[in-house]
Amino acid sequence: MHAGVGRPERFDAVPTPIVTTSTYTFADSSELAAHMTGEHADPHREEYGRYGNPTVRALEQRLAALEDPTGKAECAAFGSGMAALTTTLLALLKQGAHVILFRDGYRRTRQFVVKTLAAYGVEHTIVEPGDLAAVEAAIRPETRLVVGESPTNPYLHCTDLAALAALAKARRIKTVVDSTFATPIDLQPLGLGIDLVVHSATKYLAGHHDVLAGAVVGSRALVGLIRDLRGVLGGVLDPHGAFLVARGLKTLAVRVERHDRTAMAVAEMLATHPRVAEVFYPGLVSHPTYAIAQAQMNGFGGVVSFRVKTDPHGQGHDSPLAVTSRVVDGFQLARIAPSLGGVDTLVEQPAIMSYYEMTPEQRAAAGISDDLIRLAVGIEDEADVLADVQRALEAQ
Ligand code: PLP
Repeated sequence: MHAGVGRPERFDAVPTPIVTTSTYTFADSSELAAHMTGEHADPHREEYGRYGNPTVRALEQRLAALEDPTGKAECAAFGSGMAALTTTLLALLKQGAHVILFRDGYRRTRQFVVKTLAAYGVEHTIVEPGDLAAVEAAIRPETRLVVGESPTNPYLHCTDLAALAALAKARRIKTVVDSTFATPIDLQPLGLGIDLVVHSATKYLAGHHDVLAGAVVGSRALVGLIRDLRGVLGGVLDPHGAFLVARGLKTLAVRVERHDRTAMAVAEMLATHPRVAEVFYPGLVSHPTYAIAQAQMNGFGGVVSFRVKTDPHGQGHDSPLAVTSRVVDGFQLARIAPSLGGVDTLVEQPAIMSYYEMTPEQRAAAGISDDLIRLAVGIEDEADVLADVQRALEAQ
């Protein structure tokens, strides 16, 4: 609720006011000169909208305080999670550098590393998520970054972040972890030694499926580099968007608690359901990274992925893709949409949503099976969500 919030708020308001201006005036040339030389009495004196905005800065202070209760971290907010991630990687890499990336994770992050950065002469090695022996084996003299997610999208793989940070630090390699699925309520990677935490604030932080935003949190030195590049690349968050994310933060803890509880109930129900082949949720003992999740997280998030049995009656007329689509279409409360982390439950079949452009062989190589469903549990009544899942599974 209050982490990082300055008091008193301007105009004695309760929420942070939205300051809509693209530029800022100076009383005279000497004030301008003081600002430019860093001698101005107010270090947060703004100059131009691409370099800063009071509403955005207030949000950044709150996110920094949430990710790092010791108060040392800084945050830079962006117009989307991808703007945060791409600006971060561009700020820390140069031609000839090498990046280690987890295989499971948001596909646009992978695309940026594998296609865009490669075109600018940055090399990469892809390892299985959390496989620290593979990370170690992939390290070269020019390795600068390890980029991962925990939990990953869509298989919810959790990495032992303290071990990853120790391994990377010993080799002077920086670590970037996308913690969108965890939120600072469930996991605080900086406290485990990770250098930079990235969020798609579009998801849980804002929480209502009504704004795109992103953020990166880490040391003053690293975030300073990223903020400088943001001023060049221009992927800024607008003050209205910042206000919506800041408003979302007020209820983040109660929402995440509810997401986590209902998702756990859904995962447990799916695990015993005769029409379900496999469930992926780090709160279940059956998940391969259950022990890591237990050790480093406070809760396991609102996303549950599962594979349905696509020939439940042994007749096998329809393809696994079609049978799975029927299950997705059987949801009534959950709506079909490609996002997560909001108050409304959303459902998607990755094979025909996020991975639609791939051939079945490419999807198989990426580990995305036709029978996979990703459910992003919202904060509706738990019984309603469970009944919806039950109804959808019976629809096949
Ligand atoms: N990281 C993860 C884990 C995501 O799921 C997403 C979006 O789906 C992103 C990053 C990108 O965020 P945005 O859509 O806000 O650019």
